[in-house]
Amino acid sequence: TKKAVLGPLVGAVDQGTSSTRFLVFNSKTAELLSHHQVEIKQEFPREGWVEQDPKEILQSVYECIEKTCEKLGQLNIDISNIKAIGVSNQRETTVVWDRLTGEPLYNAVVWLDLRTQSTVENLSKRIPGNNNFVKSKTGLPLSTYFSAVKLRWLLDNVRKVQKAVEEDRALFGTIDSWLIWSLTGGANGGVHCTDVTNASRTMLFNIHSLEWDKELCEFFEIPIKILPNVRSSSEIYGLMKAGALEGVPISGCLGDQSAALVGQMCFQDGQAKNTYGTGCFLLCNTGRKCVFSEHGLLTTVAYKLGRDKPVYYALEGSVAIAGAVIRWLRDNLGIIKTSEEIEKLAKEVGTSYGCYFVPAFSGLYAPYWEPSARGIICGLTQFTNKCHIAFAALEAVCFQTREILDAMNRDCGIPLSHLQVDGGMTNNKILMQLQADILYIPVVKPSMPETTALGAAMAAGAAEGVGVWSLKPEDLSAVTMERFEPQINAEESEIRYSTWKKAVMKSMGWVT
Ligand code: ADP
Repeated sequence: TKKAVLGPLVGAVDQGTSSTRFLVFNSKTAELLSHHQVEIKQEFPREGWVEQDPKEILQSVYECIEKTCEKLGQLNIDISNIKAIGVSNQRETTVVWDRLTGEPLYNAVVWLDLRTQSTVENLSKRIPGNNNFVKSKTGLPLSTYFSAVKLRWLLDNVRKVQKAVEEDRALFGTIDSWLIWSLTGGANGGVHCTDVTNASRTMLFNIHSLEWDKELCEFFEIPIKILPNVRSSSEIYGLMKAGALEGVPISGCLGDQSAALVGQMCFQDGQAKNTYGTGCFLLCNTGRKCVFSEHGLLTTVAYKLGRDKPVYYALEGSVAIAGAVIRWLRDNLGIIKTSEEIEKLAKEVGTSYGCYFVPAFSGLYAPYWEPSARGIICGLTQFTNKCHIAFAALEAVCFQTREILDAMNRDCGIPLSHLQVDGGMTNNKILMQLQADILYIPVVKPSMPETTALGAAMAAGAAEGVGVWSLKPEDLSAVTMERFEPQINAEESEIRYSTWKKAVMKSMGWVT
């Protein structure tokens, strides 16, 4: 017998840098009913290069959907109750594929990838000092981080990509576009689209007019015909063409950080959240106005929840390496076997004993935007052991967040009274307590940490023609909050923070 219907259900694909997940929520309570997760391989073919296989990513999405549906079956939940699917994704990561064969023409160039450093330097010289039109149109500093330069690199270096462009077969997309195109039929009628949040991370998108910008496409020499159609974050893009959920509309699409902002219900001007995944991203909703930072933050599209709905903007502090440092300690040094073990090591000592770890593996993002920085571990003595390094790694994540929170407070004028958090790393209680101590404000974490997926599900469920999610707080009744209060005094916190800053200075200028 099938279980009593709980109300309409909504699924969400969360395609992150570390893993892919599919999750199914009850749209009346936001209760997470079932999910499945698959880790994604990362390839480092050369120093500074980071790639992923787009086919593996797509396969992992299908696998997660199938496994989640099986699990729902075991719970006697009828999958025909799933009324919509949302997609949230790692942003900026760049894919070019052949629209006739559906084959990717190169690996996905991941947001963290540094191969475009010289491209960026050359392009920078062409931006007049008194007219940074890239920044004013896109809200972004010219950096290896964003898609335009990655796409430029592919066009310059990959013969297959050049040929496909000449023959009018090439399509470009960030991971959302690649997935939606593939899931809605691929070479057999797939829909080539993206949403405004993902578009706003390409560096080709004008965040004021909400269109691809001709001048920017000329500047980066990108053929506009290979770009996807830009849609709102909440509307029906197409239907699932295969698998257990065939025929279900895909009706939500948000870059992961925007999705988390929605999932945390940060709909008011001044509301902010920080997500701790591979990197760390603090976004503050600035309402309907674009606020430009004086302190190294980005201006980005927060969401546009419907074709006729207004666009909302956010200020963003991006940290490249957060959870990735834990993965590095696991995969490259082997001092832990699983990411969770870091907590046990750190707990054994409860201090870094004067050791500081600046994980500037991909240069430093906000607030420094310093591509010449590289990682350092300093303050070592004969006494230092792996537990201290583990602790220093966690502390580094907290210090980096402190730096972007400080920048945010300066730009916004009104300091945040508490920090709403989510993401894979927030399961780590030591990290959460350390974060409260280092910020000296309470850290508040939802009981259901999958806020990114929740945000995508909410957008999908709220879309016109679906209409099963109202986006009101009462629809999140299953989510409760856990608070971490600061426990050390402000003075001690300040001393640690100023030593961190010294370490950051030492990490700069390694690459010339
Ligand atoms: P993403 O969305 O970028 O794929 P997730 O939100 O899934 O990232 O978080 C995964 C990251 O969090 C990984 O880099 C992993 O090393 C780290 N992580 C997961 N669990 C823990 C933990 N208990 N303590 C510290 N780091 C963790």
